[in-house]
Amino acid sequence: MTNTLKCSFCHKSHRDVQRLIAGPPGVSICDECVRVCQAVLSNQPDESAVDSTAEDFTVRDLPPPTALNATLNDFVIEQNTAKKIISVAVYNHYKRLFRSSETYPDVTIQKTNILIAGPTGTGKTLIAQTLATMLDVPFTIADATALTESGYVGDDVESMLFRLLQVADNDVKKAERGIIYLDEIDKISRKSESMSITRDVSGEGVQQALLKILEGTEVNVPLKAGRKHPGQEMVTINTTHILFICGGAFHGIESIIQKRLAHRAMGFMTDSSAATVDDTRIFEHLTTDDLLKYGIIPELIGRISVIAPMQALSEANLARILIEPKNAILKQYQALMDMDGVALSFEPAAVQRIAKVATLNAVGARALRSIVERIMMDHMYHCPGSDRTAVTITEADVQIYEAAYLSKEDQARLARSADALPAPVL
Ligand code: ADP
Repeated sequence: MTNTLKCSFCHKSHRDVQRLIAGPPGVSICDECVRVCQAVLSNQPDESAVDSTAEDFTVRDLPPPTALNATLNDFVIEQNTAKKIISVAVYNHYKRLFRSSETYPDVTIQKTNILIAGPTGTGKTLIAQTLATMLDVPFTIADATALTESGYVGDDVESMLFRLLQVADNDVKKAERGIIYLDEIDKISRKSESMSITRDVSGEGVQQALLKILEGTEVNVPLKAGRKHPGQEMVTINTTHILFICGGAFHGIESIIQKRLAHRAMGFMTDSSAATVDDTRIFEHLTTDDLLKYGIIPELIGRISVIAPMQALSEANLARILIEPKNAILKQYQALMDMDGVALSFEPAAVQRIAKVATLNAVGARALRSIVERIMMDHMYHCPGSDRTAVTITEADVQIYEAAYLSKEDQARLARSADALPAPVL
C-alpha cells in the first residue's frame, strides 16, 4: 500500500522524492512541489502587505472644531483651553490635507504640530488618543526619551513609524495621515539656562534630528517586525502629513514663567497682583520664550507652533474623573462586576475620599486607577461564583485601603487636609 504513495501535484512516487507530506486522505505533496510553490509565492507581491486601495484615504466627514471639542468633553474633564486650541489645530491640519489643494492651488498652508504642556496625569495623552479615535486615523504613542538613549535617531524614528504602519493595517497612505503622540518632549531639552549647567549636547542632538521628522522627510520602514536583514521588504513613509502632538510636563518651567511674569509686572509698574498667577493654571501663561529658556531649541519651537496648556487637577476634578467621563474608571468597574450579575455602587463620600487620596502624590488622575483596583480587589475575587448581587463601596472601605497602603506620613497629611468640598452625586 505504501508503495503507491504519490505526490498529488507531480505524481512522483515517494521513492523518487526526499519528503512526501500527507494532507487529507489520498492527498500528498512532495518537497520539490513545495519549493516550486514557495518560489511562485515569493515572486508575487504580498497583497496583504500593502493596501493600495487607500490611495484616496481621507478623514470621513471632518467634524468642525466645535464638534471635536464636544466629543472631547465626553471623555476629558476640564482642560477647556487646551481642548479648544487642539480642536482648532487638528481641524486645520486635516482641512489643509484634504481641501486646500482643490481650492487654493497656489497657497501652501504650512503644517503645524502641537505641543500639549502641563502636569503629569492631567489628560494630555487622553486628548490626543480621543481625537485620533474620533477621526478614525492611525495613532501611536512614542517616547522622546528613547530617542535620547540611542544617541542617534534612525532606528527609533523607524520604530515609531513602524508601529503607526501596523495600526494602519500596513496601509502606507493611511499611516501617512496618522497622529503620533510624542511623549516626554521636555526630557530632551538641553539643560535649561536657569539651571546653569553645561549644555546637554545629546538632548540638543535629538532635537535637531526630530526637526526633519516633524517637518517632513522620507523614512524607510520594514514591513514586518524583527531584526533588519538584507532583502527585507521595506516601505517608504513620508512624514510630511503625519500630525505630531508632543507632550511634556516641563517640570521646573513654572518658576521660569513666574519669574518672567513678575519681571514684566515690575517693568511696567503694574499692580503687583498681576505678577502672581494661579499655580494650577500657570501653563496658560507659557510662551515660546519660556520654552527657549527651558532648553527647547528655536528651530523645534518653530515647528510646534500651537501650544495647548493643561491645568493641574483639583480634588474636585479628580472626583469628577472617577464618575463623569463616558469611559469613567468607576463605570468600567461597574461593567466588570455587572458581567458577574453584581450591581456595584460607590457612596459619594467614598468617591470624594478616593479623590482626596489621589491628590497625595503628584501624578494627577493616574493615581486613581490603582487606588480603585486595590479597593475592589477582594470584591472582584470573592463575588464571581458567589450569590452576591450587590456591592457598595463606602468611605470606610477607602479608609481600610489607606491604613493598608499609605505611609504614616501620607496618612497624617490626609488627616490634616480639610474636607471642605461637597460630595459629588453619582
Ligand atoms: P498625561 O497628561 O500624563 O498624558 P494621561 O492622559 O495619560 O495623562 O492620563 C492618565 C489617565 O488619567 C487617563 O487614561 C485617564 O483615565 C485619566 N485622566 C487624566 N486626565 C483626565 C481628564 N482631564 N479627564 C478625564 N480623565 C483623565
